[in-house]
Amino acid sequence: MDLFEYQGKEFFARYDMPISPGKIAFTVDEAVAAADELGTPVMVKAQVHTGGRGKAGGVKFAATIDDVREHAGNILGLDIKGHVVGRVWIEKASDIAEEYYASFTLDRSAKKHLGMLSKEGGVEIETVAEENPDAIAKIWVDPVAGLTEAETRAWVADAGLPDAAVEGSVAILQKLYTAYTDGDADLVEINPLILTPEGKVHVLDAKVTLDGNATFRHPDYEQFDATQTRDEREAAAHEKGLQYVGLEGSVGVIANGAGLAMSTVDVVNQVGGAPANFLDIGGGANADIMAGALEVINNDPAVKAIFINIFGGITRGEEVANGIIEAMGRVDIDSPIVIRLDGTNADEGRAILRPNLSDQLMMEDTMLDAARRAVELAG
Ligand code: GDP
Ligand code: MG
Repeated sequence: MDLFEYQGKEFFARYDMPISPGKIAFTVDEAVAAADELGTPVMVKAQVHTGGRGKAGGVKFAATIDDVREHAGNILGLDIKGHVVGRVWIEKASDIAEEYYASFTLDRSAKKHLGMLSKEGGVEIETVAEENPDAIAKIWVDPVAGLTEAETRAWVADAGLPDAAVEGSVAILQKLYTAYTDGDADLVEINPLILTPEGKVHVLDAKVTLDGNATFRHPDYEQFDATQTRDEREAAAHEKGLQYVGLEGSVGVIANGAGLAMSTVDVVNQVGGAPANFLDIGGGANADIMAGALEVINNDPAVKAIFINIFGGITRGEEVANGIIEAMGRVDIDSPIVIRLDGTNADEGRAILRPNLSDQLMMEDTMLDAARRAVELAG
């Protein structure tokens, strides 16, 4: 679950990290009212689930209320890497002496948490990693042992932060680690972490990904989830309880089991097509589930052909076949469907499908042939 910057800052504030006062605004008038209340100068910051907002013109300094009006007007509705800005965060502007980078994430191969700290902040860490990898100080933290103050201090020294920033950075990094672990985050990133001319270390940006599987421990994370800008198709599928991921292509994919669904996406690519989605209907393939899946796929205007790839296991071929036929009777489908049915009682299932075949419903014996046919139909 990716948070907007302002939500990330709210999350950090729970762990007592220093952030600037600010307000969220959905309109220019709200932005102006927020700036009035906070007092200028302020920053006007696009809230989207992507980085590099500054470069894209989504982060602006506003010295006056007129500037706020102008910048908010320009930023609201702006398209940043395909994300349209629907809200801006108005934040009391900070003076900056230096910009640093700090983050924690999981290093799966090391089976440890990985902390990264650099005195070259404010730019993308990938760029630093490429051009000046020595400027990133890394620390691997054993999740059982945790991160001590002494280790944090050594890490800050390793990064070469100036004396003025040491105490403030040590304090923030320890809180950042606590937020990351206690808050069940997959990623916490501060870029930039700043040193002010007055010698204060301060959080200026927040990128937080929370572990969606840990929300049962944090019922209040519901508020973050509710504002997720999910793909419309994904939202519809989510409501039906389907495992769906939207993709860019034109071949709608339905399969049973996550592994088979991934292979189906792969095989569509392999034969030169482009899948419109990943959709796993799970173990059962009854008419209700199939109708829900077909509905979600049919509502995607990019879909030109549908590939249903089922391998019968506990669910037998004839149940699947009957489910598909019943579902097709319930949903008015615009695109042709190609089915590949194999596994338990495949012969019985195919026998049920055969009299129903038409230009609208086709069947192939193998996954590869079915993929080829679907891709050909998608054009
Ligand atoms: P990003 O581009 O999406 O990472 O957005 P950031 O929140 O990191 O802002 C981009 C850049 O804007 C920062 O690296 C800073 O240089 C600048 N910036 C952000 N907030 C302030 C502020 O309060 N004062 C000043 N002077 N600059 C800021
Ligand atoms: Mg940033």
